[in-house]
Amino acid sequence: MSEAGREKRAPGRVKAVTSLSNPIIKDIRALWLKKHRDRDRAFIAEGAEAIRQALDAGWTIRTLLCATAERDAVMEKIAARTIAAGGLVLEVGNKILSTVAHRENPQGLVGVFEQRYQPLDSIRPARGDVWLALDRVRDPGNLGTIIRTVDAVGAKGIILVGACVDPFSVEAVRATMGSLFSIPIARAEESAFLSWRRSFSGLTVGTHMEGAEDFRVPDYAAQPVLLLMGNEKHGLSEPLSHNCDRLVRIPQAGKAESLNLAVAAGIMLYEARRAVFPTEVDRAS
Ligand code: SAM
Repeated sequence: MSEAGREKRAPGRVKAVTSLSNPIIKDIRALWLKKHRDRDRAFIAEGAEAIRQALDAGWTIRTLLCATAERDAVMEKIAARTIAAGGLVLEVGNKILSTVAHRENPQGLVGVFEQRYQPLDSIRPARGDVWLALDRVRDPGNLGTIIRTVDAVGAKGIILVGACVDPFSVEAVRATMGSLFSIPIARAEESAFLSWRRSFSGLTVGTHMEGAEDFRVPDYAAQPVLLLMGNEKHGLSEPLSHNCDRLVRIPQAGKAESLNLAVAAGIMLYEARRAVFPTEVDRAS
């Protein structure tokens, strides 16, 4: 177990750290690499707002790095919540914070949290629910943006299918702007996803460059909806495409080969949740 892991068991307390070679700081810096995040089942989130959202949503904080020079009432409150939750508060200087955050001007707080996934077999969508499944999404910025959009439209969660980018990578977490902490994420190999999908009795809509229908045609309000979006380069796999009730296309007019995945996901999510955002025209009809 890593030094940070051992510290996790100690009762909540505060420590001043000045050296980059401190073993806990080394373990936190290592969380930039997926193999260390997987080993520690941990990840980094930056900034008071994201950390507050995480604590409000009941995520487990292991360590909080706090800029000594910038301490204010908000930081004090988050530090107190960390200690109350059994976490460790490290008071550090700007050099340690900027090294951990890989930024010249880091935010004054960095939190180390435990990863959390929702088991796929616990997902049982009900009428009105929208779930989004992503096939082998590779770009952390796309994934983070999509998590933020799923949150914004009030969809239920995300299922990562196959070899996807790590939702707990620093880039993905940053792009979620805190929404990571409100959106359940499940993950599954394609075969496990397909067997779960067989028990899903709602409407499964795949988005495909060769989709037979316009994306506005299906009635998304009538039953739970599962949207499927494809990999940035290869699109939706054959097995996933064949397991959709409908394959839809978002019309394009110019020369672009396709839309960016996160943009296409945004368009689909708003359409699938249209019943909750009725326009004047919808109300009149
Ligand atoms: N070359 C890939 C292909 O042929 O599918 C392009 C993939 S696109 C960048 C990534 C994903 O975004 C697609 O698999 C699809 O789910 C969605 N997408 C992008 N543009 C779309 C469009 N105009 N209609 C439907 N889905 C689209």
